[in-house]
Amino acid sequence: MALETTTVALADGSLLRDQAFIGGRWCDADDGRTFAVRNPASDELLATVPRMGVGETRRAIDAAADAFADWRDRPAAERAAVMRRMRDLMLEHRDDLALLLTLEQGKPLAESHTEIAYAAAFLEWFGEEAKRIYGDTIPSPHRDKRILVTKHPVGVCGGITPWNFPSAMVTRKAAPALAVGCTMVLKPAEQTPLSALAIAALAERAGLPPGVLSVVTGDAEDAPAIGTEMTSNPIVRKIGFTGSNEVGKLLMHQCADQVKNVSLELGGNAPFIVFDDADLDEAVAGAVLCKFRNSGQTCITANRILAQDGIHQEFVDRFTAQAAKLVVGVGVEPATKVGPLIDQQAFEKVSRHVADACERGAQLLLGGGPHERGGTFFSPTVLDRVSLEADMSREETFGPVAGIHRFGDEREAIEIANDTPYGLAAYFYSRDVGRIFRVSEHLEYGILGINTGFISVEVAPFGGVKESGIGREGSKYGVDDWIETRYLSLGGIDN
Ligand code: ADP
Repeated sequence: MALETTTVALADGSLLRDQAFIGGRWCDADDGRTFAVRNPASDELLATVPRMGVGETRRAIDAAADAFADWRDRPAAERAAVMRRMRDLMLEHRDDLALLLTLEQGKPLAESHTEIAYAAAFLEWFGEEAKRIYGDTIPSPHRDKRILVTKHPVGVCGGITPWNFPSAMVTRKAAPALAVGCTMVLKPAEQTPLSALAIAALAERAGLPPGVLSVVTGDAEDAPAIGTEMTSNPIVRKIGFTGSNEVGKLLMHQCADQVKNVSLELGGNAPFIVFDDADLDEAVAGAVLCKFRNSGQTCITANRILAQDGIHQEFVDRFTAQAAKLVVGVGVEPATKVGPLIDQQAFEKVSRHVADACERGAQLLLGGGPHERGGTFFSPTVLDRVSLEADMSREETFGPVAGIHRFGDEREAIEIANDTPYGLAAYFYSRDVGRIFRVSEHLEYGILGINTGFISVEVAPFGGVKESGIGREGSKYGVDDWIETRYLSLGGIDN
């Protein structure tokens, strides 16, 4: 147990909340229990928040059902106006939100600023997009009938979010849901509830009606009870989840009983392919960004870097030289590019992956172990000649560790890239337009970064194929996941 407490010095201290938000009221757990939220950079205590369970979740669901009746009937423009105020408030309080995010999650402050802007953007985008949800009229095959198609919010939704993007994952689910008229009970990750609670505080200020968005907090041990209530309560019509494949599959099983709608954004195992004809400056810069952003703790991080024979050595040399320059440190220090890992468990997984790759013959070119900062800081690491059988080639490493593999031709690269049950993001660098089309058409992934290592933007559909998930978040396609299509067959119109 850490003895120290980090003082969270926010300009607006009321954004640091130690209560959950249910039905428009800030509240403690029924039994008064709390859990600690710690700074992963120091293990210092940031705050304690309520440990909630079935009872509190049920109350939040009931409040969401009450709120749904009015919220769904409001014109989209009215809902959008409230969401726009939420977005404005997020940007107005961007410094505080970014600081809170860095303190509870560990990422560099500059990345937190980017995340807050990205998170706020979903509120604006979906608020506007919901104004353009059109129905349809279908030419009727019968003289006395008309066929109309109308769109409706799915209903009360549950949202369960992970710790790696504590703000953006909240709005990426809540914004489309709320914009189309759904209401939501959200459970943020136990490591990072403070960002979600701060968003709830701003939602309250923006005038979001009570119950439209509730935030129920719980520790790791409480998550199964909260999740089970969300999936078994018949009021809840949909679950939106981002997190591990294991929990995603469990929730999908649980939802099967009531045939509940699910959107799942699960793990990836992104290939990052550099072909001989790539612009190497761009490829190296893209790979460094894609690999080391958020200390490699993203589901779209480059997990397998594949470099073609002709440029392999040069790419490895240049990439390693760039990775060696990355400053490891506490997220609030301006020079920091790589923060700590989220917790000890993450640190152990990363260490295990490095050891396994080395045992299977990988060449260690940089780092390879704990950073001198101690705690969960891991040195930026580069390994070449990583076996395709190594754990780091088969599973997400979720750390600042780059494993490189050398390949011969295009067909081999595609085969390696697709040889995984996952299918979230893939990247490749090439200047040959024919190759760009061929490779794009054969990679089995939901998102392709071509000559870029950064793909997240609110206007584009984010989501995976195969075991990486179901549904899309962001963009006009992201609206579909939160609406139902209804068909009206109107008879008795004699012609
Ligand atoms: P990670 O391994 O990245 O922490 P998890 O899938 O464990 O990913 O966590 C993602 C989210 O799922 C977190 O909010 C976590 O509390 C929640 N969670 C974990 N287990 C369950 C469960 N059995 N039911 C519902 N939610 C869960």
